[in-house]
Amino acid sequence: MTETKLNYIAGHWVAGDTNIENRNPSDLSDLIGHFAQASAAQLDEAIARAQEAQRIWAGYGLERRQSVLQAIGTELMARAEELGRLLSREEGKPLAEGKGEVFRAGQFFTYYAAECLRQLGETADSVRDGIEIDVRREPVGVVGIISPWNFPTATAAWKIAPALCYGNAVLWKPANLTPASAVALTEIIARQDIPEGLFSLVMGSGRTIGQRLVESPGINAVSFTGSVPVGRGIAAAAVQNFTKIQLEMGSKNALAVMEDADLDLAVTVALGGAFGGTGQKCTASSRLIVHHAIHDAFVERLVAGAQALQVGHALDPATQIGPVVSQTQLDENLDYVALGRSEGAELACGGTRLDRPTEGYFMAPGVFLNTTNTMRINREEMFAPLTAILKVGSYDEALATVNDTVFGLTSGIVTRDLARATHFRRNARTGVVTVNLPTAGTDYHVPFGGRGQSSYGPREQGKAAAEFYTTVKTAYIAAGVPA
Ligand code: NDP
Repeated sequence: MTETKLNYIAGHWVAGDTNIENRNPSDLSDLIGHFAQASAAQLDEAIARAQEAQRIWAGYGLERRQSVLQAIGTELMARAEELGRLLSREEGKPLAEGKGEVFRAGQFFTYYAAECLRQLGETADSVRDGIEIDVRREPVGVVGIISPWNFPTATAAWKIAPALCYGNAVLWKPANLTPASAVALTEIIARQDIPEGLFSLVMGSGRTIGQRLVESPGINAVSFTGSVPVGRGIAAAAVQNFTKIQLEMGSKNALAVMEDADLDLAVTVALGGAFGGTGQKCTASSRLIVHHAIHDAFVERLVAGAQALQVGHALDPATQIGPVVSQTQLDENLDYVALGRSEGAELACGGTRLDRPTEGYFMAPGVFLNTTNTMRINREEMFAPLTAILKVGSYDEALATVNDTVFGLTSGIVTRDLARATHFRRNARTGVVTVNLPTAGTDYHVPFGGRGQSSYGPREQGKAAAEFYTTVKTAYIAAGVPA
């Protein structure tokens, strides 16, 4: 019998009202485990206990907090192979990406461990004589973290690490598609020198436990990554209590390929950006905007490259593209293939379900040709191993097409022309812009976030995270005259 993995609530591992089953998307006969679903009462208890624990944690010395984060980060990096395997088994990304993700999650913790010791405020003289001003940041309080399945460990880490660094308590609701990674990270955090109740894991469905979390007046801030409709609902719920929010949502990222591009580089960058992580990245290059002078040569190599990608079991070392995460996601992807065709796009390759020795959600990477920017396949986030080519006549048209979207997370250009690259960098309306690099793949020590419907609220990662996880206090001090 498979052991049921429990929630970690107010310092204890506890069973839920119900359990869910978690299966490997590369091999549906592989049962990863059963996972407890938190009850409303357990969530409420976790919130109440987090409020007390947060005050104790904020009173810990800086070095004591620093060593907790350092220990979590070091353990994640040391166990990247083992935990990366578990991540790949439940999410479906190739093993190298799973290991890389866990290692990166460790780096978020060690980065914010160091940030514990780098929290500086500001001082100023008052406009009134004899008064000094001290401006410092204080913890925001109890933070609800709602994370998605596509980067189950890294996304959680880039939210949990700064939350703890800046003195907050955390209630974490991970995606129900990837609970094993959540339990693994929680086991590491639970072993640390933290007050009981500072960190709780509340697995459960978004519609029930997630919704209750965002509606709770005991939560001071909610950080969410996921879809636009859920983000919109969280914003509406949070405003009732004036809960601070940070939302990271979908996008429709474009890569502009100019006629002076290094063709091999352009194809490599496009393939990686479009199909890495099975296209299930908020930073995926789902629109490839290509100058007509290079279009045919680029398309020929891109399609050949997409057809050559090895789709298979995430744990097979030969696999480059793992399965799609779930049946629901696969069905949506196939619906988008049909939609693209009905809109008049030509499917040059892929876009079909694949059979492999194990039963899983395998899909061949697909490339649409002859598309326009008004088609729904170019306006809606597909979150699929699908990309669409848009042919343009000039750099100006390319830039205008890149910016013609309601989203604005990442964009990129492939060119050898410094003037164009510079103009693009300064005029693309996205939160992240890349030059001769894929639109996916970012660092941990600098801000991450977008514009439009891609993001709402302060930026994540790097020092920018302080804006969300702290609140500013301005103190006025009249010390008087020495006796
Ligand atoms: P969701 O937005 O539904 O899920 C993201 C997280 O929010 C999960 O933990 C989910 O829980 C939770 N959630 C769902 N409903 C609520 C709610 N009412 N209140 C609070 N939390 C909630 O995304 P999906 O996983 O369903 O994916 C659908 C689409 O979203 C994808 O196809 C993609 O387009 C986009 N997406 C974008 C991501 C990004 O990186 N920006 C990441 C993931 C998805 P649970 O799943 O356990 O029910």
